[in-house]
Amino acid sequence: MSEIYEKWLREYGRVFNDPRSLRTRPCPSCGRPGLRLLFNVHRTDRSVGWAEFWCDNCRKGIFFSRVSVPDWGESVTTEEKRALSSGEAPEYETIPPTTYSD
Ligand SMILES: [Zn+2]
Repeated sequence: MSEIYEKWLREYGRVFNDPRSLRTRPCPSCGRPGLRLLFNVHRTDRSVGWAEFWCDNCRKGIFFSRVSVPDWGESVTTEEKRALSSGEAPEYETIPPTTYSD
């Protein structure tokens, strides 16, 4: 697993346990606060989805599939996501779990 991906993974764990820290935690990639977490869900079941976790500053981040959505989680369906403004929709470069050299 790449080092930067592991950092993001650890940060995700921290934010998951302390959601209020999301906006104040430094980004694992650029070090500035601006982390965002959004759960993509299906309209028939909003309790499970895939998580997008990214930084609004450097536009890097990670995603996971099949996660349970916590009560506090911000969630959108595919339909709702299409309606998001460009500033709200996640647009970022995905950090892969491994690099080619691993
Ligand atoms: Zn960043």
